[in-house]
Amino acid sequence: MDFDTPLFDSALAEAWIRAIAAAVEEEQARLTELDSAIGDGDHGTNLRRGFDAALTALDDLRPAGPGAVLTRTGTTLISKVGGASGPLYGKAFRAAGAALPEPAGPAALAEALAAGLDAVRLLGKAEPGDKTIVDAWTPAVAAFRAAAAAGTPLPGATGAAAEAAEQGARDTVPLRARKGRASYLGERSVGHQDPGATSTALLFRALAEVTGRPDGR
Ligand code: ADP
Ligand code: MG
Repeated sequence: MDFDTPLFDSALAEAWIRAIAAAVEEEQARLTELDSAIGDGDHGTNLRRGFDAALTALDDLRPAGPGAVLTRTGTTLISKVGGASGPLYGKAFRAAGAALPEPAGPAALAEALAAGLDAVRLLGKAEPGDKTIVDAWTPAVAAFRAAAAAGTPLPGATGAAAEAAEQGARDTVPLRARKGRASYLGERSVGHQDPGATSTALLFRALAEVTGRPDGR
């Protein structure tokens, strides 16, 4: 084993949740604007409420492994977010937390995030192309797995996953929504980027940021 390769431990897991909360705060207006176009305009506030509560929940949790950090975050999102995204992201974080060994290398973290995607799909029944969270999370997992299989260390693997998630979010623009509130709009959902795919890209970008920091924090 290469001991210079950073591993995903409790401190990184906590840094990830903090980075997501910061990104959601910064992008709240944009997420809400996207959801105003094809939904009910609450995605930014939903996630803000959820991740602010997740930060508070983390303060009561120390010390805990990285899996427990993600599981607690998921439980908090389920209980605090009223919109569809709360249970979907909540289940995703709970499943990822349950699947995560301590500490996790790139391959193990990729598999934990794949378990998160499975949970989203089990609950929401969305297929790729339905213009949802799944459209950003699926390519992110694929890119993460491919990078891990090629022996890429954590910063490179998470960077590849973030880029794939961002591309996946952009690729939702021409899609017609088939799940969630946006599906009520039918053809009128075409031409808008999906809010949930956009927030999924934020989650993966936050992961790349924290794992890419020189001191790992
Ligand atoms: P709500 O739609 O209840 O107002 P949010 O606005 O917080 O909840 O979240 C909307 C996002 O949730 C959508 O942009 C979409 O990406 C995601 N979403 C909705 N339904 C599903 C589903 N069945 N599977 C995956 N993602 C979904
Ligand atoms: Mg909404």
